[in-house]
Amino acid sequence: MKKVYIETMGCQMNKSDTERMLGILSHFDYVETKEPKDADLLMINTCSIRQLSEDKAYSAIGVWGKWKQNKPDLKIGFCGCVAQQKAENIFKRAHYVDFVLGTHHIYKLPEIIKRVENGEKVCECEESHKTEDEIAKNYEITRVKSVNAWIPITEGCNNFCTYCIVPYTRGRERSRSSEIILKEVKDALAQGYKEITLLGQNVDSYGKDFKDRNYRLADLLREINALDGYFRIRFVTSYPTDITDELIQTVIDCDKVCEYFHIPMQSGSSEVLKAMNRRYTKDTYGEIVKNVRSMVKDVTITSDFIAGFPGETEEQFVETLNAIDEFELDYSNTAAYSPREKTVAAKWVDKFIDEDEKVKRLKRLNDKVKENCLKSNKKFVGRTMEVLVENFENHKGKNVITGRTRNNKIVHIPCDTDRTGEFVKAKITGAKTWYLNGELL
Ligand code: SF4
Repeated sequence: MKKVYIETMGCQMNKSDTERMLGILSHFDYVETKEPKDADLLMINTCSIRQLSEDKAYSAIGVWGKWKQNKPDLKIGFCGCVAQQKAENIFKRAHYVDFVLGTHHIYKLPEIIKRVENGEKVCECEESHKTEDEIAKNYEITRVKSVNAWIPITEGCNNFCTYCIVPYTRGRERSRSSEIILKEVKDALAQGYKEITLLGQNVDSYGKDFKDRNYRLADLLREINALDGYFRIRFVTSYPTDITDELIQTVIDCDKVCEYFHIPMQSGSSEVLKAMNRRYTKDTYGEIVKNVRSMVKDVTITSDFIAGFPGETEEQFVETLNAIDEFELDYSNTAAYSPREKTVAAKWVDKFIDEDEKVKRLKRLNDKVKENCLKSNKKFVGRTMEVLVENFENHKGKNVITGRTRNNKIVHIPCDTDRTGEFVKAKITGAKTWYLNGELL
């Protein structure tokens, strides 16, 4: 057996692609190693959401290029979103790379490796408008050891937000067939996974591209919910205006679907949202969030925000801080705006916000997120909650199990035995900024 090491950067979609690539390679005499120095094949699965991630990818493989000078048979693959975007140009920047593999063709990996082993340099980065389910179903997935299985249900995005590279790296939106998804869910449950997260850049638009059937995310959730056994179901990421009452009702009706929505707002200013090409205003976002909260008991709602979008004024930025308070967002991912090649906003150079100012706004945004996260956590002190245990570790000299509630709150519980993979009941005894403390009942 040969050894493969894959370094994964970026989002959960990339992690899921890595699991698929490891699954494919396991059918072709490759076994995973966690030690890059032991590998015969080194691959990097890159992220292009920010310039920083792209720069990190090049610096990581620079070291591998040096190793190759003493180990000429070593093969190096550059994969993922940066590969999709830069294609052959990767060879100019890193001549020691053997193959460049975009996000649309991971199932061609066996054929690509064969060509590389015959001395060819290969680049597979054309855009494809199909899902790869026909080929994918022949391969099992090598999941990382965890209680949670991430299963992509859509790939790509049609929204073209003016700051976002995803439609250029992942292509137009394609929904995977429900039969393949259900098979992957059943396989994961049979392997002992306790939580299924359905994944997509815009998961609520699942099925919109099916020409011959009216089958949407709500239908898929109901089918998965009907499977035997006790497990949890989550879905991320939701586009605000695609959340229908039918979907919310499905969350209420299906006992395995968790009370958690991730609904990126991106800015609290309607003018900035328009410039971002988001299809809602501050008020429509607020109505959607209030609707979800009024219908789903104990729901938590998390979001994403960008600080320093081109042209964002101080007043518009303050509207974002106010929106986090007003809509009681439980947690938010944040980032300073980073111009990405090909996107519309990257051309608005004359409106770019000064770097120092962006850093200051990001800090203020993070402070607001922290404040609200603590406020949200405090609401659960004294409650009894179900926790799915994900970890057992020694934390500051004490044995602790860590897991998540149905509404995605992290809970630390003192416990001397490893309960990983079990559902436990805990009384919440305290709230910190990023987690809750609890005790076993
Ligand atoms: S909806 Fe999300 S993935 Fe699609 S373009 Fe907008 S930010 Fe990017």
